Amino acid sequence: MKITGNMINYYFVCQRKLWLFSQGLQYEEENENVQLGKLLDTSSYKDKRKQIMLDGTINIDFLEEWKVLHEVKKSRAIEPAAIWQLRYYLYYLQEKGVPVEKGYIDYPKLRERLEVTLDEEKKNELEEIIEAIETVVTQNDAPKAEKKKLCTKCAYYDYCFI
Ligand code: SF4
Repeated sequence: MKITGNMINYYFVCQRKLWLFSQGLQYEEENENVQLGKLLDTSSYKDKRKQIMLDGTINIDFLEEWKVLHEVKKSRAIEPAAIWQLRYYLYYLQEKGVPVEKGYIDYPKLRERLEVTLDEEKKNELEEIIEAIETVVTQNDAPKAEKKKLCTKCAYYDYCFI
């Protein structure tokens, strides 16, 4: 099963959202989608700020010399979801043989940044999260809609509550 960065994020935000997304009800952003192998082969990837989707799976804001990932966020809202999503990017690239070392969540508006790493313990935890995601998305029915603060900004709001 293909697990995308969005799915890791939605697992923490709302499991109903994760389920709906996995069923093909998707509101995807338009991003350039390239295959990792192709990108590794080319020397033309110079623009550090370019947002790029790899293998239709992970969406990187920018990458420093294939070693440090950056994810830019406006606020610290839903921070655990952002942290695990970035850990998943590290995991995905490391599993593909790319020697990424760490990531940063950059909050330009707050002038802050948060370092994110992936040690063995977190890697094991992440693998458990991936298994839990597989369980959610293979359920026949959507998890129940439970109203929370984030719902009003969610693309599925109408679907859930109207
Ligand atoms: S509107 Fe709320 S309950 Fe529905 S998918 Fe979004 S976050 Fe989940």
